[in-house]
Amino acid sequence: MAHANRHDLNRRTVLKSSLAMLAAGAVGEFARADPEIRNVNLASSPSTLKITDMRYAVVVKPGPSPCVLIRIDTNQDVYGLGEVRDIAGPQYAMVLKSRILGENPLRIDYLFQKIAQFGGNARQAGGVCAVEMALWDIAGKVYGIPVCQMLGGKWRDAIRIYADTTESMDPAEYGRRAKERKAMGLTWMKMDLGINVLDGIPDTVTQPPGMSKWELHDQPHPFIATEVTDKGIERLCEYVAAVRENIGYDMPLSMDHLGHIGVKSAIRLGKAYEKFNLEWIEDVIPWYYTDLLKEITQESPTPTLTGEDIYRIEDFETLCHEHAVDKIHPDLATSGGILQTHRIGDMAFRYGVPMAMHFAGTPVACMASVHCAAATRNFLALENHSLDVPWWQDLVTGMDKPIINKGYIAVPGTPGLGVALNDDELKRHLKPGTGYFEPTPMWDEAQSWDDALFS
Ligand SMILES: [Mg+2]
Repeated sequence: MAHANRHDLNRRTVLKSSLAMLAAGAVGEFARADPEIRNVNLASSPSTLKITDMRYAVVVKPGPSPCVLIRIDTNQDVYGLGEVRDIAGPQYAMVLKSRILGENPLRIDYLFQKIAQFGGNARQAGGVCAVEMALWDIAGKVYGIPVCQMLGGKWRDAIRIYADTTESMDPAEYGRRAKERKAMGLTWMKMDLGINVLDGIPDTVTQPPGMSKWELHDQPHPFIATEVTDKGIERLCEYVAAVRENIGYDMPLSMDHLGHIGVKSAIRLGKAYEKFNLEWIEDVIPWYYTDLLKEITQESPTPTLTGEDIYRIEDFETLCHEHAVDKIHPDLATSGGILQTHRIGDMAFRYGVPMAMHFAGTPVACMASVHCAAATRNFLALENHSLDVPWWQDLVTGMDKPIINKGYIAVPGTPGLGVALNDDELKRHLKPGTGYFEPTPMWDEAQSWDDALFS
């Protein structure tokens, strides 16, 4: 009976509200009349919200750096924060300013599709992803809810963080550093272990002499004729054994940066590492060699993973559809931002593929990743490269400290991304010679008519 009464009351309320809306001719009047939507923040009037400015600040930190923070301002004092993918410059974001000025920032998917053509693999997508994050931050602040709620809500209350250690040429020291990480409360670890630790040890790596720096760093792996020997593999296994001895087998251990080696060497390493029960070997060859990755994945008993340099969901889907890797690893600042990465996760779920997340920036992009991870079912763990940088978490306010607490980040329940900038701390870490969110009128006008993708 009580339910029926409430139903009647709701109908009366809606009728009354509808009449009020007709009388007032405004959505704002409806919001004021209906108790169910009173949480909408009427300090901002979403239908008339407009983007008025975009500015940036460039932060330098240990690890991948510099990191560009952007701020998108509106005509209603609400602003959004975003971050360009680590190492990329501010121009990747600023070239988009003329395309979003005057637009309603709440049209997130529309605006992302409008600017998506200016994104590309790896750092090239840094700008469009930064803008997308900032739009979500604005939307959350306007409606008074956290970003993860707008994606469908939380699958989990805290996000598992994983990290590596600094490298050492000494296996015992490597093991000791891993133990320290575990003592910090981490529940998932990664180690970088490549053929570079074999430098100077005879008969461990077969490689043609006299290779140029460009060949060694910029030629894709299959073209530099570099293979690891049995002796080299034995030495590499000493490092993994030392880490496992120190952290045990109860926590996942992933591996990255194996070196630019051939497909068969990657397979042989995958077999040699089987006994260490690694969670994955990462980016063993460039991600776009689908068939070669599939060969490695099928032959290696150690799982494979890739994805931190992939922009398009279609490319992730090819990998998942082909099961060319066992797991994917998007970086939200490359993979199209918050919504697109959430969609990548859902797509991968349908193929039975889990999603870890790469991240190497400041707490702004970190929180964008946290909200996406919270709302995405097949998420595993989020990377962090700043566990040894004490001031990393001080770059922002608005969250309980430590932000990374015993290996997890609590998902904020505050509006938007849940962080504000700590101006004083940020100004201590600006790239020398750069300003702090200074005016950017030089980016107000489009320099070319390049929005026409087809005739
Ligand atoms: Mg990596």
